[in-house]
Amino acid sequence: MKQTSLLLAGLLTCLATAVPASAQPAKANVEKMYLFDCGNIALNDASSFTPGAAGPGSLAVTCYLMKHGQSWVLFDTGLGDPIIDMPGGQKSPAGVWTVKKTLTAQLAEVGLKPADVTHLVLSHSHPDHVGNLALFASSTLVVQKAEYDWKDPMGMSRFKPEQKAITPAGDHDLFGDGSVTLVSTPGHSPGHQNLLVRLAKTGAVMLTGDSVHTRANWDSKRVPERNFSVPQSLASLEKMAAVLKENNAQLWIGHEPSEPARHKYAPAFYD
Ligand SMILES: [Zn+2]
Repeated sequence: MKQTSLLLAGLLTCLATAVPASAQPAKANVEKMYLFDCGNIALNDASSFTPGAAGPGSLAVTCYLMKHGQSWVLFDTGLGDPIIDMPGGQKSPAGVWTVKKTLTAQLAEVGLKPADVTHLVLSHSHPDHVGNLALFASSTLVVQKAEYDWKDPMGMSRFKPEQKAITPAGDHDLFGDGSVTLVSTPGHSPGHQNLLVRLAKTGAVMLTGDSVHTRANWDSKRVPERNFSVPQSLASLEKMAAVLKENNAQLWIGHEPSEPARHKYAPAFYD
């Protein structure tokens, strides 16, 4: 038991010191970050994401766009734009997905087309994060190797082989300056990743994908039992806490239902 704890402590220390990877002091080279409302998920049963919860629930769906030099980096693509035209939203056994404003329209409001996105970073490959993947066929995909190699239930690849892709195995400093860092957080899916972003005024912010779904789950360190691996999910929460501390970073939880009220959305931005 003792040995296991020591091993775990050692592993967590390694993980915690893995970010930032660069030996140079990290720079806040992200000029601005926009938040987009990428839909809403009404859940029939909140306990599917929050063990112990009772009754219905809801999740926000947030996408993030960063400007770094000449590059535009999008983190996740949300629910698919076509859902906006479905009366009453898209129904699934778990609940209803709705889109009030398309991602394409929100990009246009800040003067961009999907083709202007140079890097598409995906937290993972679940449908509420890749709903608009097809719009970004010309972007370089940035996905953990474990996620990229993970076949769908039909045994097929989740990504098109012709799309240019960067597939790191573990933490990765995207521009080599510590301003946009992939933080490997497996558990919800095999190759889930968070994104650590540095802004000059706002400071460091960690974006979550589905490593945690709500603020209450973060506070109580609860993870959904439906996750790919519960032990990996719990280890990733520990790693996130260490990375947040080390980088004095805020945690922005993309599915947290109160997120839209707490933050400004595009065309306003964080710098
Ligand atoms: Zn999700």
